[in-house]
Amino acid sequence: MQVPLLDLKKQYEPLRDLIRAKFNEVADSQHFILGPEVESLEREICAYTCANHAIGVSSGTDAELAILMAMGVGPGDSIVTTPYTFFATAGGIARLGARILFADIEPDTYNISPARLREVLEAHRHGRLRAIIPVHLFGQSARMDEIRALAAEFEVPLIEDAAQALGAEYPDHDGPKKCGSITEFGFYSFFPSKNLGAFGDGGMIVCRDEAMAHKIRAIRNHGMETRYHHHSVGGNFRLDALQAAFLRIKLPYLDQWSAMRRANAARYREEFARAGLDSVTLPVESYAAQAPSVPNHHIYNQFIIRAPRRDELLTHLAATGIGHAVYYPIPLHLQECFAPLGYKPGDFPESERAACETIALPIFPELTPGQQQAVVASIAAFYKP
Ligand SMILES: *Cc1c(COP(=O)(O)O)cnc(C)c1O
Repeated sequence: MQVPLLDLKKQYEPLRDLIRAKFNEVADSQHFILGPEVESLEREICAYTCANHAIGVSSGTDAELAILMAMGVGPGDSIVTTPYTFFATAGGIARLGARILFADIEPDTYNISPARLREVLEAHRHGRLRAIIPVHLFGQSARMDEIRALAAEFEVPLIEDAAQALGAEYPDHDGPKKCGSITEFGFYSFFPSKNLGAFGDGGMIVCRDEAMAHKIRAIRNHGMETRYHHHSVGGNFRLDALQAAFLRIKLPYLDQWSAMRRANAARYREEFARAGLDSVTLPVESYAAQAPSVPNHHIYNQFIIRAPRRDELLTHLAATGIGHAVYYPIPLHLQECFAPLGYKPGDFPESERAACETIALPIFPELTPGQQQAVVASIAAFYKP
């Protein structure tokens, strides 16, 4: 049986008529840039995430860039993040000429390690530390309690990269909080493979402070507040009306899709246990104990296993028609473009180990039990031929 890593057609099928009707509506209006659909989506994302302000932008990448621009980040500044994430997290820092400081991950969740973060903050406490960017990787919150305490101690603002975590919840002291809106800034991506995917690129910034929201809104549109009066240098970071309109149709289904991803994860656990595949490490759910009150403690944008003889297993999966991917094969500190930062192999051992040992398996909501059995059967055939 062929099993794709991701099958977006399954999700589109039941929404097809609604989406097409919406396309006609927007096409008839001929209003394509920002406008009422974008404003409505911004209000709905605010309501969904309990954020004070939401600003629709062209992508997750541009979301981070616009936040950093609004903060006035530039040469001489330093920003701390993880080397085990999608390139964009660090790319935005580099594009503004700021220095990237990496802190290694925890081996179990692949999220930034608070202990390593403290070491980096202490080593650079006399530098111009402008932000910490934790990533809620694969759909599970980073350890925000510890990270928030460090941010307060070192007086550095937080920007949550929640590109993979729209809808994921963190069990905070005063109740569950939505990843991205736990701290002062956060952002989401609507890249088609994210849990809420657009029909192209799109992103959303959420923020707490009204003045910053105002600044970011201007930066999204060339720093323009009144037409052709430019108060700052921004960019074209605008979200399309069509994308917003399609996303508004999909948003009400997001929690249901996350629940389906979680159910698939639970089924994988049963199938792996039944197959006796003890050498394969399954994803750790850090906040599962709070599950009854915090259902979206993990929303499985990806289901990541750690597997012995990983590269041979990749070849075997490909040969047996099982969709898979490696997120991410080269940690960012070893990327060619970041060579000038002076990092070397061995600097972030957990990120390097994860890059060599992990595989993403199919986890999309519509994945069937039969397809999951085929995935696990293929892996079982590899380890127990
Ligand atoms: C997808 C992603 C981004 C960038 O989002 P785009 O919309 O693709 O620009 C940033 N960070 C992480 C962790 C991502 O997964």
